Amino acid sequence: MRARRINSVLGGAAVLALALTACGTADVGDTGSGDDNGDGGGDTITIGVKYDQPGLGLDEGGTPVGFDVDVATYIAEELGYSADQIEWTEAASANRESFLQQGTVDMIAATYSITDERREVVDFAGPYYVAQQDILTQADNTDINSPEDLEGKVLCSASGSRSANNITEDMEIDAELREAGNYSECLELLNNGTVDAVTTDNTILAGFAAQNPDDFRMVNNPFGEEQYGVGLPADSTERCEEINAAITKMWEDGSATEYLESAFGETDFAYEESAPELADCA
Ligand code: GLU
Repeated sequence: MRARRINSVLGGAAVLALALTACGTADVGDTGSGDDNGDGGGDTITIGVKYDQPGLGLDEGGTPVGFDVDVATYIAEELGYSADQIEWTEAASANRESFLQQGTVDMIAATYSITDERREVVDFAGPYYVAQQDILTQADNTDINSPEDLEGKVLCSASGSRSANNITEDMEIDAELREAGNYSECLELLNNGTVDAVTTDNTILAGFAAQNPDDFRMVNNPFGEEQYGVGLPADSTERCEEINAAITKMWEDGSATEYLESAFGETDFAYEESAPELADCA
């Protein structure tokens, strides 16, 4: 199993070090290496995934692994691309829209929540999974157990993500925000005490907590709803329909639960096991 392989090949500290190193390479302006410009039919398909999120998209020796990577591989195959025709590109939260707008990637599967604001500039297929938001603290912290406990605390989230706004704007909780380039950078700030907590999707936090159980504690008091979509360039209605058909098949034939089990089966994370309801393609 993937989770076990990560654990046995690299100890928790090494994985954290790997994740932290990955943030150094998260070049927000990266132009990727794909030669297909996004209109399909090329020899390759370029897909943006995270490279620093254990369980979802984690760079393991040049090849990303995790749930989003498995989902993207399944979808690409349904679109007619074999696994070796996929060109992976590292996407950070802050560059997902621009990568799609500029044609750097053909699609994105990177813990990418469907939101109305993002729908103004990109299209989404899916959702293929519905996550919730949660909070991660240092292992010995006992006073943060809900979003309300973040009042007056220093909170880290990745720039380009919705997670911090959900707390400070939507829930009107007065936390002091510290934005980082990605979540592994937040983990470093949490580890050295610069911030009191990290907030984002429970999937992401569960992966980090599982790799470093002695250092971090997931509050495990989930809130909100994060619908993970496959990001596409604007006006991709036809491809969106094809991807939605692939997502339906992926849940029906048991692949989706197999990927979730592979990613999180050996962690404490109680992942969602039912197929989400698909949204209409624009
Ligand atoms: N899913 C949330 C979002 O897209 C947070 C995680 C992330 O930034 O990748 O804003």
